[in-house]
Amino acid sequence: MTTVIIGAGLAGLSAAYHLKDGYEIFEREERVGGLCRSEKIDGFTFDYAIHILYSSNPYASKLIKILLGDNFQSLPRSSWVYSKGVYTHYPFQANTYGLPIEVVKECILGLIKAKYEGDKNQRPKNFEEWCIKTFGEGIARHFMIPFNKKVWSVDPKEMSFDWIQDRVPQPAIEEVVEGALCVQTKGFGPNAQFWYPRKGGIEELPRGFLFLLDKERIRLKSKVTGISIKKKLIYLDDGKKREYNNLISTIPLPQLIKMIVDTIPPEIKNAVNLLRSNSLLAVNLGIDRENISDKHWIYFPEDFYIFQRLSFPMNFSENMAPQGKSSITAEISVVDLQKIDKEALMDRVISDILLCGIIRDKTEVIFRNIFVLSPAYIIYDHSRKNAIDSIKDFLKEYYIYSCGRFGDWEYLNMDHSILSGKRVADEILQKQ
Ligand SMILES: Cc1cc2nc3c(=O)[nH]c(=O)nc-3n(C[C@H](O)[C@H](O)[C@H](O)COP(=O)(O)OP(=O)(O)OC[C@H]3O[C@@H](n4cnc5c(N)ncnc54)[C@H](O)[C@@H]3O)c2cc1C
Repeated sequence: MTTVIIGAGLAGLSAAYHLKDGYEIFEREERVGGLCRSEKIDGFTFDYAIHILYSSNPYASKLIKILLGDNFQSLPRSSWVYSKGVYTHYPFQANTYGLPIEVVKECILGLIKAKYEGDKNQRPKNFEEWCIKTFGEGIARHFMIPFNKKVWSVDPKEMSFDWIQDRVPQPAIEEVVEGALCVQTKGFGPNAQFWYPRKGGIEELPRGFLFLLDKERIRLKSKVTGISIKKKLIYLDDGKKREYNNLISTIPLPQLIKMIVDTIPPEIKNAVNLLRSNSLLAVNLGIDRENISDKHWIYFPEDFYIFQRLSFPMNFSENMAPQGKSSITAEISVVDLQKIDKEALMDRVISDILLCGIIRDKTEVIFRNIFVLSPAYIIYDHSRKNAIDSIKDFLKEYYIYSCGRFGDWEYLNMDHSILSGKRVADEILQKQ
């Protein structure tokens, strides 16, 4: 039985690892890793936007530690929110101390009102309502709504909230009050302690699979250009074809459907048209000064700053920046990549970083570039779930298993993508 896997990102590599045998991976790039690659340029190493590891799943945690081996380290998170000209600890909702008094008051009174006056039986209709019901008007207005608008690039009213799970910390009211009265040191959420390779960027993680897989079965620089679901064939960019019994795809669902050369039902085409995503521009900067920040990352909820997050790769592991230098990655979500003037965007990012005082002068910037991630975040709007279910049911009829962040069309972290690849491998093995 041959299982063809499209894509050697974490999901594809994990699927191969769990199948153990009978697989062949086709990857269009010259290296494995997908979104989890890192690029070393002029002595600076940048990931494709910030990539920190954590997992609440014991199996995934164990596998991540095997993949990184001696190169594993665990770090206490130093993550912050910058708003009203003040740095507060992340998460905003548990750490309002230091913000203007009126803001703190609005946040606390809003939370009390939401907890004790709201109708608990009434389910929120959308993500905005969820924010207000869960945290109250103040926290929603000063952080949750503006920040999420920047990340998802859609109005939170258009979004569902079934992606939240344990992603958004929901502190107890006592913790919120304590965090308004003083600086609290308690870490909230699953990534209060996170993992990262001790040396090198996040690419060290997918590279770990190369020691566990048969490298002969990984075809790099092999782009899949078409699929015949009737003939059970994939077509490659070098003109060759490959037969399969089962096909695992980790590429974005819309691209997978477009690649099918046979006629597909109109309802599947319609379902694909309902899937929405945004893109992300990661502006990377090299700075000619050491230790420009001791933080790992900072969230920017205000529109005044173009980016939603800045991170400092040089604080994640050794050798991420040359001696005496620092590095910054700024993340900006966008809907329409065509409208972006990259040079103007980099200028704006540098100006905004100067305004918040992280760099002293524009001449400190000695390196700049942009990574484009597209898609980046899939949009959890109200039609997503039904559309995905019908597309996946259709694909399974033809022995096609779609998995990973864009194959499942879900907000998956690295550990989830590894588990997603395992899930489809297990499903195939069970059927054999
Ligand atoms: C902005 C951003 C920040 C993130 N931060 C974190 C974080 O901090 N922590 C965390 O745990 N996770 C994070 N993630 C999520 C993480 O990146 C993903 O969960 C994971 O990398 C997805 O792996 P994948 O294999 O599903 O997809 P991908 O990595 O996209 O792999 C798909 C592979 O398919 C290949 N491919 C595409 N088309 C073809 C074709 N036609 N033929 C052959 N090959 C093809 C691609 O080259 C790629 O290698 C972040 C994601 C984003 C977008």
